[in-house]
Formats: sequence, C-alpha cells, structure tokens
Amino acid sequence: MEENKSSLISIIEKYKDDMVSTMSEMVSIPSISPMSDGKGEGARADFLEGKLKEWGFEVKRYDYVDETNTKRPNLVARHGNNERTVWFVAHMDTVAPGDRSLWLTDPFKAEIKDGKIYGRGTNDNGQDLIASIYALRAIKEFGSDTTFNMGVALVADEELGSKYGIQKLLEEQGIFGDNDMFVVPDYLSEGGSMVEIAEKGSLWLKIKVNGKQVHASTPALGVNANRNASKLITKIDEMLHQKYNATDNIYQPPYSTFEPTKREKNVDSVNIVPGSDIFYFDCRVLPTYKLDDVLNDVKSVCNSNDFKAVKIEIETFSREDPAEPTSMDSDVVKRLLKSIKEVMNVDAKPMGVGGGTCAAFFRHRGFPAVAWGTEAEDMAHQPNEYCRIDDMVNDAKVFANMCL
Ligand SMILES: [Zn+2]
Repeated sequence: MEENKSSLISIIEKYKDDMVSTMSEMVSIPSISPMSDGKGEGARADFLEGKLKEWGFEVKRYDYVDETNTKRPNLVARHGNNERTVWFVAHMDTVAPGDRSLWLTDPFKAEIKDGKIYGRGTNDNGQDLIASIYALRAIKEFGSDTTFNMGVALVADEELGSKYGIQKLLEEQGIFGDNDMFVVPDYLSEGGSMVEIAEKGSLWLKIKVNGKQVHASTPALGVNANRNASKLITKIDEMLHQKYNATDNIYQPPYSTFEPTKREKNVDSVNIVPGSDIFYFDCRVLPTYKLDDVLNDVKSVCNSNDFKAVKIEIETFSREDPAEPTSMDSDVVKRLLKSIKEVMNVDAKPMGVGGGTCAAFFRHRGFPAVAWGTEAEDMAHQPNEYCRIDDMVNDAKVFANMCL
C-alpha cells in the first residue's frame, strides 16, 4: 500500500507543469453566468471535455437550458470498476472580475509569480477543478486496482444557486450511486486544516415598516417609520439572541448569528419624517432550530403592541433550511481526514460553517458530503484572485490518495 501511495503521488508530481498550463488556458476562457452578463460555461466546458477525452475518458455531458436560452453544461467522468465511487464536484463558473482598476493583472490572462497563478477563478473553483481532473488522470495512469472508483462532476451555475448545475444533475438517473461519497472542493481553509461537514440554516429577511411621512417640524401629524424601524431592529435583535442562544462547537462561530445588515435609503432630506423604512436581517441558524420558528418569532415581535402605529411587511428574501450534517463516522470523512494526514501531515478538523457550498444539496438527499481544499488566504471573488501551485498539486494528491 505504501508503495502504491508513493507511485500515485509521483504521477501527480510529474503533472505539475501540465496542471499550470491547463489552468492558464482555462483562465483565458471566461465562464460567467448569463445572469451576470456573461456567456455561460459553454466554451470552458468544451475545453475541459476535450482534455478529458484526450486523456481517454468517456465524458457524459448534460446541457440544461436556462431562462436566457443559454445551454448550461455539466460534465461527468469516472474511472474504476468498484461498487462505490468517491465523487469530486467542482464548478466551472466564476463571478465577474468586478472593478478592473483594482486588478494588477488581466483577470483573463493567467500570470504566474512567486509560485502563484493569478486570474479570475483561479481560487474559486479553478484550483480544485484542475486538482480533481488531474487526480482522475493519475488514478487512470496508476492502473492498479483501487478501493473506490473516482468520479469527477464539473458543474455549472454554482455562483448563482446551482439551478442549472448540481441541482439538475442530482435528478438524473444512473450517475450517482446510493453508497457513493462526495467531496465538494469549494470550501478552502488555511493549510487545509478544516473539513466542512455541516452548514447552518440561512434565512434572509426583508422588513418594511410603513408609517406616515410629514415635515419634521410637525412630527405629531405623521408616524416616523425610521424611529419604529430602529426600535423594531433592536427588539428583533434582542429576542433572537436571547431565545436562539444554543452553542455547538463543531460550527464556526459556534452559535447562531443574527445580523441586521442592509438598510434601504428612505427620504432625501433631513427635514422629512420618513413614511417608510426598509431593513434586512441575515440569520444563520444552528440546525437544532427550525427556520419556521425563527420566522414566527420575528412576526410576533412585529405584531406586538409596541408597533401598533405602523404597518409591517415581512418578506423572506432567501431561505436555505439546514441539512442533516455529514456524520464524523462516515467513510467520506474518515477517508478524507486520513488522506490529508498521509499526504500533508495535517490533522484536519471536521467543522460546520455559516452556509454556502453545494455540499448541502447532497446532504439534503441523504448523501454523505464534505467540502475541503487548501489555500493561503481567502481569495474567492476578490480582485487579484490567485491560487498557489503547491496547494493545487497537494489537493490533487489528497483526492487521488482517498480512492486507494
Ligand atoms: Zn466556489
């Protein structure tokens, strides 16, 4: 087994330069959602499909048509004849580059400097997309039997909710087996020290307080929506923090979070009492609680006597109910922790986060899924996004070694 491990690892070492050049080529093919004024993932998928075929894989392609009539591609490739497969699910889409003046390089031309590759999507999710496909290639070249098959799913539309990506792919028959395991290499931690096994539920509320607008010199004639909204924010904030105060140390942070965030602009002048005021709450709730209970408690505060003078409208802006966490005793967690230790000599820690990876879609269907990858600092969606070449190569080793 030790010999097998070192031969697999040396195959990946040998791919290093090739991984860098494939990443560089990929960066020059924009892959931004049509909903963010991009052209979608089509051209990038063609490129990656070509690579996988060139390496001798049979690639299944699933194109889902979105509301802009754009085909959103998803690619699936697999190697091995075992009963169970470890799947690596990486996304091909990237966010837009944002303000170009903040970039020191062209976001669509990879620049290599100090062991890093700069460019949009190099960190999110390029690094571990490349790591996944080269791990698959290495398993094939390795040739000997492995304990598990390795599978790679390269998906679309992750940045805007996965409607035309993993959500659709999970509905297809005959791709994922009941006993398969899933790694979503899209939660990167410093030095790869954290393995994400759980997510909090997330509830974003938009609350509109309606009063009556008047001149500020005669406030008695109106109802000040700003004052009422401010009181309401404080009441909701206190109630949520007092009532939903459980802690669970696998999560970071280990408690539910309730934050008043955005506040919409109300009136234009200092001398006007606002007739309406709109604010938002971002709630990240431990799975011990139900989001319906949180929502109902917020409604009760709004309906209390304190706010009789105003009319309050509550809208659920976005909602993700928490999925059952992936068990620490599941094979996927144990295998991944073991592989990280063997390859990187790191004792990684299973933990929960505030939400946001597509691992939740697997957990909702009862599949064991973890999110993991290595980075030096959080560069996702940032200008001057980069990935470290060593992190990309090491992650590939960890992935391949998991299947041995
Ligand atoms: Zn991502």
